[in-house]
Amino acid sequence: MARLSDPITLLKGIGPARAKQFANLNIVTLEDLICHFPRGYEDRTRLVPIEKLQADVPACFRGMVMNTPRTAHIRKGLDLTKVTVADATGRLNLTFFNSPYAAQQLHYGEEYIFYGAVTGDFIGYQMTNPVFEPVGSPGVTTRRILPIYPLTAGLTNAAVLRAVNQALALCDPPEEILPEALRQRYAILPAEQAYRAIHQPQSMEEADQARKRMVFEEFFVFSAGLALMRAARAEKRVPPYPQVDMAPFYAALPFSLTGAQNRAIGEILADFRAGRPMNRLIQGDVGSGKTMVAAAAAYAAACSGFQTALMAPTEILAEQHAASLGRLFDPLGIRVGLLTGSMTPREKREIREQLEAGDIQVAVGTHALLTDATRFARLGLVIADEQHRFGVAQRSRLGAKGEDPHVLVMSATPIPRTLALLLYGDLEVSILDELPPGREPVETFLVGESYRPRINAFIRKQVSAGSQCFIVCPAVEENQELGVKAASAWAETLQKTVFPDLRIVLLHGQMKAGEKEAAMASFARGEADVMVATTVIEVGVDVPNATLMVVEDADRFGLSQLHQLRGRVGRGKQKSYCILTTHNRNPDTLQRLKALCKTTDGFRIAEEDLKLRGPGDFFGARQSGLPAFRVGDLSGDLQTLKDAQQASMEWIEAWGQSDAPEAAALRRRIGALFLRWEGTMN
Ligand code: ADP
Ligand code: MG
Repeated sequence: MARLSDPITLLKGIGPARAKQFANLNIVTLEDLICHFPRGYEDRTRLVPIEKLQADVPACFRGMVMNTPRTAHIRKGLDLTKVTVADATGRLNLTFFNSPYAAQQLHYGEEYIFYGAVTGDFIGYQMTNPVFEPVGSPGVTTRRILPIYPLTAGLTNAAVLRAVNQALALCDPPEEILPEALRQRYAILPAEQAYRAIHQPQSMEEADQARKRMVFEEFFVFSAGLALMRAARAEKRVPPYPQVDMAPFYAALPFSLTGAQNRAIGEILADFRAGRPMNRLIQGDVGSGKTMVAAAAAYAAACSGFQTALMAPTEILAEQHAASLGRLFDPLGIRVGLLTGSMTPREKREIREQLEAGDIQVAVGTHALLTDATRFARLGLVIADEQHRFGVAQRSRLGAKGEDPHVLVMSATPIPRTLALLLYGDLEVSILDELPPGREPVETFLVGESYRPRINAFIRKQVSAGSQCFIVCPAVEENQELGVKAASAWAETLQKTVFPDLRIVLLHGQMKAGEKEAAMASFARGEADVMVATTVIEVGVDVPNATLMVVEDADRFGLSQLHQLRGRVGRGKQKSYCILTTHNRNPDTLQRLKALCKTTDGFRIAEEDLKLRGPGDFFGARQSGLPAFRVGDLSGDLQTLKDAQQASMEWIEAWGQSDAPEAAALRRRIGALFLRWEGTMN
């Protein structure tokens, strides 16, 4: 008997060279191998009479060899072996390319099982390079369901299959982590059976069942992990903040807060007084006023003698927050400091010294804020803005800074509930479902290229009225092939040919931080009329005087992303517009974009987006903070995801404290998963 942790070199036929190929698939141990699941199956169980074979549909049939195979040497490197086979229903000519094996193994008068697809031409059907086995042999490549594995250069499916089968014969598959009661309730196969069946299914149904178990298990481990994290946090104790007088803060605001903002602030203040570290998500559509909620939290922390670290995903946003919070807090005697990666070492050192001395109460910055070089005198609150780039792993690491600071994350990405549980399963949620009064929805249009003169005229009209415009392009450099408008080229064209008299600035992610900052700042100050940008402006930037956004090649963006972009206008008192342009004539694409013209409800748009494009696109692959699931597919396996989430809650209730072997095994699995994540997140 071997152990799961043993190296695969233990297996017959796997030497150092083979091992290297397997390593390319991240397979080092027997466990890795057993957890290398097929990506699909070929059903080779059914035998089809020759007469019933269909062109291009691979199938198995039983046939007798009707002549001695003849091999012809066509030219150097090309030998053709031809043979005719027959059953009671018909005859079929087979051709093998360069196959001495076929030439030697197929014998006149004997019967074999073949697997392949017939192709038709004017002479009739024939088959090229079928696989075959003698009728009496145990089926390895025929008469079975053949798993098809993800492969890498040099490694064949057969080699993986052989290795997996050996491994399964040598050791027990990974241990059970699901209590029997849960397995029964959710109709889940036991681990032992599932691990064997996923590689060696007796039927396609069994293969489906096995895969379902693996998907369930994967989601279950993840959800249970989040639930455990949440439970562990709930056990922690921190000194409760005293009752804070918020009146001076409210008096300093230029407007009164919305009901939703007040509710969220109330929830935060209650968390502060509860004596447990807060872990809360503020979810609110663009423009719902999340920043003020964050400011209220920072104010309460400062009045209680604690510092706040507010992290933004981009420098531009960090600067904007620092500026607006500075204006708000200055008169209240609370000092705000900015710390970003592009500051000079000396500037950074100064800010860090003041943070360590406790002279600054609110630090605003990018991820630089959380590096070890930054020390706080008394960090009490960490706020992450636009949190979709700030995943569970980063959150779990926060506890290390200060003494279990309160954590507040803010997201403008409305996320359907099931996915929200995956992303934020460890968080309490406050929802800002109300926009500040007087906001008119941004009027949105979808137009084709023929509208170009009218678009340009509209831009000019807005500018003449004293407003500003965003023009968003999908890429930085011109990409001829795709005909996608690149920001820099388009800015130049507009300046030269259409708007020589307007002040145009350019903003894209490849500019240096200082340049970006200067461009954004000048636009925000009203020193430019038009900003041509890539999606770097997507997140959070606030220019209330901007009333028009033109999105070029809008079909290149996801709906949620477009919704976020659109949120950059309509932030002031004036009526705002969003024009989506596209060359695309695909009815589905146009319909998708039209959905955006009809509604400004971020949640509905998100649901639509999820339905249409799946969650990968929805979150933006690398930003999500979600681990890549190995088996589960967030769009196709949504029901299993829901079941697994439900089951994980039941598990915490009934087995959270249990020391049964499955419970211990699950805890180990969760630990390993979170460790793996830490690795991928850094
Ligand atoms: P987001 O939720 O997208 O981060 P912001 O916090 O940036 O939204 O707020 C958007 C704009 O609305 C800002 O200009 C902000 O000053 C303003 N704002 C926030 N709350 C209110 C309110 N209660 N009444 C009026 N304006 C508000
Ligand atoms: Mg914001």
